[in-house]
Amino acid sequence: KLHNTILELKGNIRVFCRVRPFLSDDGVGADAKVISFPTATETMGRGIDVTQNGQKLAFTFDKAFMPDTSQQEVFVEISQLVQSALDGYKVSLLCTMFFELMNMHNQVCIFAYGQTGSGKTYTMMGKPESPDQRGLIPRTLEQVFETRQILQAQGWKYEMQVSMLEIYNETIRDLLAPNKSISDASRPENGKQYTIKHDANGNTHVSDLTIMDVRSSKEVSYLLDRAAQSRSVGKTQMNEQSSRSHFVFTLRIMGFNESTDQQVQGVLNLIDLAGSERLSKSGATGDRLKETQAINKSLSSLSDVIFALAKKEEHVPYRNSKLTYLLQPCLGGDSKTLMFVNVSPDPSSVGESICSLRFAARVN
Ligand code: ADP
Ligand code: MG
Repeated sequence: KLHNTILELKGNIRVFCRVRPFLSDDGVGADAKVISFPTATETMGRGIDVTQNGQKLAFTFDKAFMPDTSQQEVFVEISQLVQSALDGYKVSLLCTMFFELMNMHNQVCIFAYGQTGSGKTYTMMGKPESPDQRGLIPRTLEQVFETRQILQAQGWKYEMQVSMLEIYNETIRDLLAPNKSISDASRPENGKQYTIKHDANGNTHVSDLTIMDVRSSKEVSYLLDRAAQSRSVGKTQMNEQSSRSHFVFTLRIMGFNESTDQQVQGVLNLIDLAGSERLSKSGATGDRLKETQAINKSLSSLSDVIFALAKKEEHVPYRNSKLTYLLQPCLGGDSKTLMFVNVSPDPSSVGESICSLRFAARVN
């Protein structure tokens, strides 16, 4: 039963929309309402309406989170999404992920998409030091390590590994590299190639990338801090690089059951994408233009790949960007993809919001 319900979910791509609350620096007239949530039963909790120039555009996703939705509520919804498909199995998202791993559905990908300032990082990372405002990554990790304890009692032994990288201007940067500065790490003269290879078992290898064994969520928190520092080094040097690059957090789980001789392997990718804002608004020239073109290229490649998969097209253009090529095994086949589209309620962002929602509607 369990196996069948999971099989039915194969290849599913889900899209959740999240609108952040107004912030004090949203600008004059920011509380004018351009976004509303339909109350009709058929779209309740799934619909989002955006008003531009007196015209109302309606979008529907798998879920639409209103501005007052807490981090915990978002996390619970994710676990319920999977739980509902497992009818009756009172297991959390990550328990479910473990079951999936055992069934060889071993790749999970969660993205946050949206313009800079729309709440992507808040959704993925949140404020790890605040119990209420912690995002999906810290909550997920805690759950993974809790679940591991439960499964250990059933004879499973697990090894966990994490890596963290960013893709900036179509170049991979290792955020856990032992170097003091990541700009050193990515210089060609230091010999690091970061070449992406997929083996016959569907495993992805990035040459020279630092992979760390982890035994507790505390250890991962420490590494996340280190990665954040590597990013912020870039931030001052490289024009707020963090919003101009894709952040990819990867957790690899390898399990072995001594009593049944079963072996499982799974990969969980959590991705905070670069800001999706278009060229005109960022007023791009020179380096900035190059950055924007690289971002546009990878985001449109992502959209093309997911669209091709959803349409079951024969040719899926994975190789058009580093991002899609890196994530190839977790975007196709038996894997599961969840995309958050993050939206700002600020009327001055309405054009960008519509673009983000259209992007998400295309991949949904
Ligand atoms: P992005 O990563 O898309 O550029 P951020 O996650 O940094 O955007 O969010 C921009 C600002 O809005 C931050 O100050 C963040 O704390 C705040 N914010 C975003 N989403 C929420 C939310 N759901 N609730 C409260 N504050 C939020
Ligand atoms: Mg961010």
